[in-house]
Amino acid sequence: MARIIILSAPSGGGKSTIISHILNDERLRLRFSVSATSRQPREGEVDGVNYYFITAEQFQQAIADDALVEWQEVYPGRFYGTLKSEIEKIEAEGYNAMLDIDVKGAVNVKSKFGAQVLAIFIQPPSIEVLRERLVKRGTETPESLEQRVSKAEYEMTFAPHFDHVVVNDVLDVAVEEVRQLILNFINA
Ligand code: ADP
Ligand code: 5GP
Repeated sequence: MARIIILSAPSGGGKSTIISHILNDERLRLRFSVSATSRQPREGEVDGVNYYFITAEQFQQAIADDALVEWQEVYPGRFYGTLKSEIEKIEAEGYNAMLDIDVKGAVNVKSKFGAQVLAIFIQPPSIEVLRERLVKRGTETPESLEQRVSKAEYEMTFAPHFDHVVVNDVLDVAVEEVRQLILNFINA
């Protein structure tokens, strides 16, 4: 049976970084589930690789067409959703789906697919460290930085809903912890 692996964290928590380190580990048989979003691409992001970048109108159409497993307005006016077609394609190819989605989306996928899902919460060492990492990443305006940091404390309260919490302090340690959790899950 194909599995769904979810990595959730406050923005800047390190999901994308950790995923990039484990995605090519063939023992895990992972394929990244590319979400649809109505936000603008960041520099270097590629349509169909990082996200399917669509308009707010196209996003509403996808909701109306029941094309999404789950969706959230993660930030005001910015929609993100997991496409049914994406999960089906990954499963048909015999891989496990790797989802980088927000905490509410994670809870919804978990309740929909139950034991097929491993939900891992990536926790930054502190809010201060999270802010520093977001500043260093250099992708945020002062406004979006504040928005992401102020949301982080709320998102951290979702940690108990996850199967596991991994603290992303030293990157290599966190990567190995996540790799091992996935290996244990898919081989159980
Ligand atoms: P997310 O995908 O959760 O928004 P990223 O993976 O983009 O987060 O990480 C945010 C920033 O923090 C990136 O610039 C990344 O290089 C950096 N980062 C991630 N993990 C660590 C870590 N353990 N130590 C130091 N910097 C980190
Ligand atoms: P970013 O704008 O930094 O790429 O992502 C912002 C937030 O949206 C992150 O927490 C990310 O995990 C979440 N996200 C990305 N894709 C999806 C999705 O398909 N569904 C949900 N619910 N959240 C998503």
